[in-house]
Amino acid sequence: MRIDIITVVPELLASPLNESILKRAQESGHAEIHVHNLRDYTDDKRRTVDDYPFGGEAGMVMKIEPVYRCIEKLKSERDYDEIIFTSPDGITYNQHEANRLSLMKNIIILCGHYKGIDYRIREHLITREISIGDYVLTGGELAACVIADSVVRIIPGAIGDEASALTDCFQDNLLAPPVYTRPAEFNGWKVPDVLLSGNFAEIEKWQDEQAYERTKALRPDLL
Ligand code: SAH
Repeated sequence: MRIDIITVVPELLASPLNESILKRAQESGHAEIHVHNLRDYTDDKRRTVDDYPFGGEAGMVMKIEPVYRCIEKLKSERDYDEIIFTSPDGITYNQHEANRLSLMKNIIILCGHYKGIDYRIREHLITREISIGDYVLTGGELAACVIADSVVRIIPGAIGDEASALTDCFQDNLLAPPVYTRPAEFNGWKVPDVLLSGNFAEIEKWQDEQAYERTKALRPDLL
C-alpha cells in the first residue's frame, strides 16, 4: 500500500512515521509512505501557501494552487482510491474506517493548517473527509499520523504476530481482555489464576468473558 501525505509542516511527520511498526512495514515493503512539502508546489519566491480569507475574517487560508498542482502530479503518476482531507467536521474516524482504508492500494492524505483550506479544494479534489475526534488540532499532521499508523499496522504481514492486531480492541466490536506478564505476583497483587493454569480452553473462555464484560461496563454502545 502507498500513502502520500501532503503538508506544510513535513517535520511534524518525520518521527512518528519512521519508528516501530510503521518503520518496519516500510522496510519490509508492506507500506510506502511519501511526504510532500506543499511549498515545493508554489511558484513564487517566498513559497507562499496561505493567503487572507475573502470576507475579511481572522486567520489565514491555505491556497488552492499548490494543493491542486501537488494532487494533479500524484494523480498523473498512479490511480488513487481515496483522496482524504483531515478535518474536524469530517466523518469520525474508527477501526471500521481503518480496516476499509487498509484494503486500498494508493491513498492521499491532505493535511490542513491555519484556519483551513480554500473550500473549492474540498468541493472538487477531495473524496473523503476524516476527523479524528471532536476537538480542534493545530494542523492535520497528527491526524494523518493517526490514520497512517492505524491503517499500516493491519496490512497483512506488517505486524510479525498477525493474530495480535486481530485481537486488538474494536476488531470484533469488543474491547480487548486484560493482559499480564511476569512476575505472577507483585506487591501482593496477583495475576488471575486461570492465566497460569496452562489450560488453553479455559484461558480462551476467560478472555472472551472478560472482553464481553469490559465492553458491557465501559462501552455498551459497541454491543
Ligand atoms: N477553522 C477550522 C479548524 C482549523 S484547524 C474549523 O473550525 O473547522 C487546522 C487544520 O487542522 C484543519 O484544516 C484540519 O486539517 C486539521 N484538524 C484540526 N482538527 C482536526 C480533527 N479533529 N481531525 C482531523 N483534522 C483536524
